[in-house]
Amino acid sequence: MHESTLETCIICEQRKKKGIHLYTSFICIDCEKEILQTDTNDAKYQYFIKRLKCVAKPEIFS
Ligand SMILES: [Zn+2]
Repeated sequence: MHESTLETCIICEQRKKKGIHLYTSFICIDCEKEILQTDTNDAKYQYFIKRLKCVAKPEIFS
């Protein structure tokens, strides 16, 4: 149903069709895969987490 909808990935900031929704944000399938494949000790992983934390803030109080 939403096949033609492009959404902006919060990690790579590119507009992609496929991905998952986290809170109100979108992560493309490529980044999701990369996150899962990245070692938690990797600096890249920390970068991903930082990006994710930006969107994980609850906005219910605003
Ligand atoms: Zn992405």
